Amino acid sequence: MRYIEPHAHMVSRVTDDYERMALAGCEAVCEPAFWAGFDRSAPEGFFDYFSQLTEHEPKRAAKFGLKHFCWLCINSKEAEDVKLAEEVIALVPKFLNRPNVLGIGEIGLNKNSRNELKVLEMQVELAAVHSQLILVHTPHLEDKLKGTKLILDVLKNDRRIQPARVIIDHVEEHTVEMVLDAGMWAGMTLYPETKCTPARALDILEIYGNERLWLNSACDWGVSDPLAVPKTALEMKRRGHVAAAVEKVVFENPKAFLGQSEHFRL
Ligand SMILES: [Zn+2]
Repeated sequence: MRYIEPHAHMVSRVTDDYERMALAGCEAVCEPAFWAGFDRSAPEGFFDYFSQLTEHEPKRAAKFGLKHFCWLCINSKEAEDVKLAEEVIALVPKFLNRPNVLGIGEIGLNKNSRNELKVLEMQVELAAVHSQLILVHTPHLEDKLKGTKLILDVLKNDRRIQPARVIIDHVEEHTVEMVLDAGMWAGMTLYPETKCTPARALDILEIYGNERLWLNSACDWGVSDPLAVPKTALEMKRRGHVAAAVEKVVFENPKAFLGQSEHFRL
């Protein structure tokens, strides 16, 4: 089996994870810019992080034969401070031409606050001006439905944004349909505790079909599983999906979406 891990925070993982992913058939890993688990105190912290994502991490992945790509932004958890967000957003353009950068992400909302929404709009503007793909993080649990609607409104109201160049991540049963109906892509995140389990993700897949959907582990510094995608592929086989159907979801779909970036080459 071959697969693409379209959402993983590898700076928080050990090299053993890279090795295990490569052994499981992973061909590329894509790392959205995210919260570090603590708030960074200054824009310089983000400059270093963007340098790590574009210079150091691709080399670490290459030692295991894996291609490493990334997305850049300020995440919604640190977007409450609008002035800091403005300074971080101003750093992003000088990194966009680096060869492993795929677009702007993971932007979105966390608590659906006014300031988060303002920073989301600033980053949609950034993506529009620089013709970048967009990867969106949606809030958790009770904030997810409202947050997803707010995010879709921002994106749909901007005529420069092509829906097929946007992926809305962490969809669940109650949000997947509105994302697909908007013409965007939907990501299902496989988490051991919150978000989707493999069984729930496959139920969604069997109901909504396998177009414009992908699976990811979103593994980070918390409880998460870097092998969640290949484990879910096994569960698909166990449920009777043929090999081509499995490969479509775990390899062909992410390849098609990410391939819209000229930087994504396997
Ligand atoms: Zn993430």
